[in-house]
Order: sequence, then C-alpha cells, then structure tokens
Amino acid sequence: MDSNLIKGFKEAIVPGEHHLILSHVNPDGDAVGSSLGWSSFLRSKGVKTTMVLPNKFADFLAWIPGSEEIRFAESMTEDEVQDLFESIDRIHCLDFNALSRIKWGQEIASSGKPIYLIDHHQDPEDFATVAYSNTSSCATAEMVLDLILALEGEIKLSPEGATALYTGLLTDTGSFRFPSTRSKTFRYAADLIDLGADNGAIYQRIFDTNSLNRLKLLGYCLSNGMEVLEEKNAAIISLSVKTLRKYNYQQGDTEGIVNYPLSVENIKVSVIFKEDDGFLKVSLRSKGDLPVNQIASKYFNGGGHKNAAGGRFDGNLAQARETLLKALDEL
Ligand code: 5GP
Ligand code: MN
Repeated sequence: MDSNLIKGFKEAIVPGEHHLILSHVNPDGDAVGSSLGWSSFLRSKGVKTTMVLPNKFADFLAWIPGSEEIRFAESMTEDEVQDLFESIDRIHCLDFNALSRIKWGQEIASSGKPIYLIDHHQDPEDFATVAYSNTSSCATAEMVLDLILALEGEIKLSPEGATALYTGLLTDTGSFRFPSTRSKTFRYAADLIDLGADNGAIYQRIFDTNSLNRLKLLGYCLSNGMEVLEEKNAAIISLSVKTLRKYNYQQGDTEGIVNYPLSVENIKVSVIFKEDDGFLKVSLRSKGDLPVNQIASKYFNGGGHKNAAGGRFDGNLAQARETLLKALDEL
C-alpha cells in the first residue's frame, strides 16, 4: 500500500476524537460488516465512532455484534443530524464511492471535515480527502484488513470486529467463490477465524435464515418468474408488486436470487427487475467478460462491478425488458 495513504490514515486516528462512519443505501453484508469492523478497530485506538446508514439493513444481518448501535439517516430529525455533524471530527465512507449512494451527500460535502474513503467499486468520485480505492478487491472488508495490517503490522481485532469483517468477506465473495476471491482473502478469513469469528455460525446466520415465503418466492422466480433468452444467453426475472405481496415480501428476500440463473452453463447474464415505489430496482449479474456495470450505468441509472451491478428504471416491467434487450444487442 502506498506510504502516503498509510500516513493519511495514520494521521486520522486521533484518540479522543469522534468519527462518523457511513455506508451505502440498502446496506449489504459488506456495508454493515466493513463499517462495524473499521469502527471496532478505531475504537480500539481510542476513537469514538458513530455509524449511520441511509436506511435499514435486512434482518439476516441484524445479529452482527454492534449492529444494534447503528443509526439510520431516514429516521433522524434535522436537529439530530445537525448535532451529529457538529460533534464529529472526521468522516469515513465505506463500501461506496458516489455521493448519490448515501442520503447525506450534500451534508458531508459541505461539512468541511476530512473525509476518508475505503471502497472497492469502479469509478470513484473525487470527494475524499484521503481515498483508498481498490477496484480489484473482493470486499471493502478486505480493504479494511489491508489497512489494519499496514497500520499495525498485524491484524489486531476483537472477536466482534473479526466477526463483522468475516461477514463482509463472506457475503461480497458469494461465500468465497467469486473470481475476485484471492489467496489473500482466504488468509484473512483464516486470521479472522483465529481472532474469534465463528465461520460455521456466521454462514448459518446469513444463509440459513429463509422464511417459508422467501423460499416460495425463490421457487416462483426460477419457474414462472423467469424468462430465458437462449439466443442472448440471458435470463430475466420480473417481479411485480402483486407477486411480492403474494409472498409477503420482506426487505432482503430477493437478495442473491439473481445469481441462480448463472448456474446454467449457457446463461451468461442474469437480471432481476423488481417493482418498488413507482420505479423498478434493477440487479444485474454476469459471468466471464460481459461488463454489466456498463449496462447499469448507461440504461439503468446505476453502476457497480463488471460482474455485479445494479440501478433503477423509471418505467414498467415490459419497458425495462425492452431496454435490456437493446442493451444486450449493443454489447
Ligand atoms: P445489487 O444487485 O446487489 O443491488 O447490487 C450489486 C452491485 O451493484 C452493488 O454492490 C453496487 O456496486 C451496484 N449497485 C447496485 N445498485 C446501484 C445503484 O443504484 N447505483 C450504483 N452506482 N451502483 C449500484
Ligand atoms: Mn462491497
């Protein structure tokens, strides 16, 4: 890691200061895990931290030690936000690199406080004072471990911090199976287990928590809800509000479903269109060289990684389908 970068982060760790840790909307395991892990490290150095996410995370993440302390911007009053910004010395932005991914883009940009970025997404925006961006890293949790190692010479963490970071690694690597998983990732995972992360229990709490409705929704997605476009090597899953209601949809229920079609050899692109409040949430996945983040940014107001991207669409399911077909032809 670049020595200026290490110096920048070293200078940020001032005992007695109060730091704000932020991550992205619809927080996933890496957003929550990397934030809690970094917070745990900062606290071990005597820094007071407050973590704020734009909105709630799914229930299957709510067991992570320390997650009960996280605050949500959507339910804070203007006065609370103002008090918070007045009380903090520095801001850490984890697992996102575009201000549109948080609720407080304006607030942090105009706060005048030093901003520290730790993130692995493509095309970082230039808003941080010190930016640690590594688009080839599998998870922000892995980058937090890189940083701790660079700062301390070894991974020092509480069992709680280790558990949070292990969760980030596990979820963003699809259980250590995505190509972004490197030998280093496994070494870190091993370190975290030695520090007290219970890998079996964490796996169960993340993945063995289906409700019956969620399991049936998955069944619907893979049978009636999925259209396979053989000549385009693509699969589209469309979910209307009506269907979601039928299966008593809870936030997080569609998490991971978009990956299933890729388990078919000839399906190289998989997309979910999910109706939300007046718009569609779009999730795209691919295997091989197909850059779905280009489709996300050009057609769906979003972005992401080459093989995993997302965005939104202002229109109905049929229009989104047409747009996708056009995008696939273009690629
Ligand atoms: P998911 O399909 O799980 O919601 O998102 C997959 C990835 O796509 C995320 O890790 C994130 O990098 C990216 N992504 C999802 N939604 C958006 C969005 O609205 N805007 C941008 N820029 N990226 C997104
Ligand atoms: Mn991530």
